[in-house]
Amino acid sequence: MEYKRASEVLYKGQMKEGMIGTPETLPCFLTTAFVMKDLDELGDVTQKKGYTYIRKSNPNRTALAEKISYLEGSEDSLIFSSGMGAITTSLLTVLKPGDHVVCNSNIYGETYEVLTEILPKMNVSVSFVDLRDLAKAAAALTPRTKLLYTEVLSNPTLTLADIEELSRMAHDAGALCMVDNTFTSPVSIRPLEWGVDLVVNSLTKFLNGHSDVMAGSVSARSDLVAQIQHMSMLCGTAGDPFSSWLVCRSLETASLRIRQQMNSAARLAGALALAPQVKDVNHPSLPDYPQKELAGHLFRGGPGCAMLSFTLPEDRERINAFMDALHFARYAPTLGGVRTTLSHPVTSSHPHVPDAVRRSMGITPGMIRVSVGLEDPDDLIGDFLQALHVFN
Ligand code: PLP
Repeated sequence: MEYKRASEVLYKGQMKEGMIGTPETLPCFLTTAFVMKDLDELGDVTQKKGYTYIRKSNPNRTALAEKISYLEGSEDSLIFSSGMGAITTSLLTVLKPGDHVVCNSNIYGETYEVLTEILPKMNVSVSFVDLRDLAKAAAALTPRTKLLYTEVLSNPTLTLADIEELSRMAHDAGALCMVDNTFTSPVSIRPLEWGVDLVVNSLTKFLNGHSDVMAGSVSARSDLVAQIQHMSMLCGTAGDPFSSWLVCRSLETASLRIRQQMNSAARLAGALALAPQVKDVNHPSLPDYPQKELAGHLFRGGPGCAMLSFTLPEDRERINAFMDALHFARYAPTLGGVRTTLSHPVTSSHPHVPDAVRRSMGITPGMIRVSVGLEDPDDLIGDFLQALHVFN
């Protein structure tokens, strides 16, 4: 019998060898090490890849990795101290000096900095390409290209990468395809099903969802995960047990939460698109979304994500008044929580990008990005519409 993911995930990562009795929920193993009876036991545990030292492995990380692997549909996963820990450690593992990376031109700012500040120190070169243009992506791939990197949906304009076609192109060129699924989450899309080789998630965002943990993950084939695990052990980027325990707990409601958040985002986007004070609402569920067909294909008809963005008149004082007038949504430099948050890309994620370049990307000083939470969607829509009156 096949069960729904929302049911099965509740039972993943539960039992660990050697526990006292059978606790209903996995306890938190706040221990830096596991004691060994003698040299024989150490040899035995090491051989069976059991638990020895916290930086190498920990039962709560194992449990969380099991749940993430289940959600992403991967052979294995690894848990990190943050999304950036997952991204950087994975890049350092799969790339070597002389390699070349093709990366989407619009990616998370700190990932961009890793690619432009850290990778060149290893003599790894990077070409940034707007991956919506598949011909340009093909032209950028060279015999030295070992990795194609993208996010599913770009921040904050929500343009979509055709990860099915891009992974096919990467493989034809002898490269791996790595995708950041943070905005979308495996509740919306499982990139490995579309041919991607490595999927990273900032668990700090939707998957934990309660704005109280920093963690990250990578999901891939077991042989790749084993290589990344060695790098993580050397770099010290593994996640801590309590964060893993908290994310495990949060994952038990992830399908419920994120599905609701995505549906509310679609409703809010639809309402904002009709508001006279607003222009250019970006959300894959909207009928005029520029990549509608691709979104329908990759999200299998689902709403796609719980993020949206829209443009207000470029009037700083009124934008401040609008933020002030909102009862629910708060301005905060994060996303993916149960409470709706706002960000202002020009001052938060894209402050160093020249104005003309930003505008060519569709990012103006009037743009607002919203991460939709679990408030009742009618309340949320009513709140945004009343706050928009400051522009009348
Ligand atoms: N990837 C994306 C798309 C993000 O938005 C973020 C953080 O905002 C990260 C990765 C990094 O995650 P973390 O803050 O957990 O390191």
